[in-house]
Parts: sequence; structure tokens; C-alpha cells
Amino acid sequence: MENLNPLPCQCPDTFHATVLDTLPGNTRLLACLRCGACELVEAIVDEPRPHDVQLLGYNTIELTPDARAWATAWPRFLENQKPRLYFSAAARFETEADLAAARPPQSATFRETLLALGVPPDHPPASLPNELYGFREIWHGLQLNDETPIDELLDAATRWNGPNELAADILAQRPDLESYAAAYVSNFSDQNRKYGRYLISKFKLSDIQVMVAIRARLSELTDDKTGELSELTRTLATLGPAAQPARPELEAAAARVKDTDYYAHKDLMQLLSKLT
Ligand SMILES: [Zn+2]
Repeated sequence: MENLNPLPCQCPDTFHATVLDTLPGNTRLLACLRCGACELVEAIVDEPRPHDVQLLGYNTIELTPDARAWATAWPRFLENQKPRLYFSAAARFETEADLAAARPPQSATFRETLLALGVPPDHPPASLPNELYGFREIWHGLQLNDETPIDELLDAATRWNGPNELAADILAQRPDLESYAAAYVSNFSDQNRKYGRYLISKFKLSDIQVMVAIRARLSELTDDKTGELSELTRTLATLGPAAQPARPELEAAAARVKDTDYYAHKDLMQLLSKLT
């Protein structure tokens, strides 16, 4: 049965906050910042013509008591505030003026903001529905720390739908990213080379050891059949002028694929045109 009001309360929808993060599709975990009502809902929409999306109502997705207690313990934010302003799970406002004036303290990173406002201490319960998969990932992401092995951090940072930014925040504190990037970008394992490219573009690593390793790897790639040449070209493009030392290897690679790979050649030429 569809309801027109997503929450079982009569408070104005200006008090309706989204808990933790956006969810896939039309699903949202909503919480009222006035009375505390909370529901996992799916918006039912119709699109009679392209770009004409009409809201028909909301379906409520049942949560077990365990899942409800765990999922609603996270901080929440109002959709219309950019950047996102997070409120603690316990925050309540009587009037819209109180809500508009509220300035809950935000920290420099998503991780610190969540930890400061409060997160569920326990593991996600087994009954947590699939719709809240992202919450589970964020909880695991918060358990990462300086002691976490770098490969585990890199997996969390690069996995599709993983706790990418939370893992990147921990990686950013490591003093040895250049050595890992240099060792990984020319490593024998596909996975490690992918991690190496991620580190280089995410943290804009371009010191001499990194550039030496990239240049060596570029020289080894005779074609773009695995896509790695294109990936490396894209990685270097994120470095801007700092990619300059790789120019000879980029020119050589462009010459090698000129007659066999239109797209790889085009990307290489585009990057070269930006280096002077
Ligand atoms: Zn309410």
C-alpha cells in the first residue's frame, strides 16, 4: 500500500532527513528531526513522458528491530543543504527556525564527522536488508586504521561500492605511498598495477621513483590489448605538467600503436599535446 507521507508523523517535510547516505534507486532511510520517526521507504514514481517523473507515493520496507536500531543510530543530513550538514541520531528540533539555525560541528573528513556525531558500535546485524548494503560498507570502512594492511586499504578504496573515501582518508596519512605506487605500478600482478595507478592519480604522486616506474612500465606495453596502456595514459593525465618526464616513453608508445589502435593513439596524442 502506498502512502503519500513517507514517515508516520505529521511533522512538515522540512524536518525529514536522510540517514547516513543516499541509497541505490529510489530507496531512502528517512528520519524526522522533530519527532524521531524513522522508516526505510521506496518512492514509487511514474514517468509517463521522458524527464516527467511523478511521485505516486511511498512503500515502507520492513526492518527487524535489530536492523532498525542499528541503521537509525547513524548521523543524518538534510537533502537541501550543500555541502551536507550531518546531525547526530539524537538531534531534535521543535521549530523550523531552530532547525534552520542549527550548526552541528562538522569535521575535516567524513570519517571524523561520523565518529564525532556517533555511529553504531556493533557489527551490522544479519537481518540488515540488502537496500542498506552501503551502510554495512561504511561501518567496515570506519574500522580501517593505520594498522590495517595496505592491500586491505587499497581493496576498500577501489572496490565498486566499497568504503572508498573512508579508506582513502587512512591511506592519505601514510608516509610511504610513493614507494608503494612505484613498486605496484610495474608489479607482475594485474591487481597491484591497478592499485599503483589508483595511488598515483588519487594522491597525485609524481616523485622521481614513481616516474621511473611508470616510464619502465610504459616501455613494456607493446599494445593496448589489456587496456593498461589507456589506463596509464589516463593516470598520467591526472598529474598535469608533472607527467612531463614520461614524454619520451609516451611518444614511443604512440608510435607503436599508431596504425593498430585508433583510440589508444588518440588518448596518447591528447596527453602529449598538453605536455610541452
Ligand atoms: Zn516527525
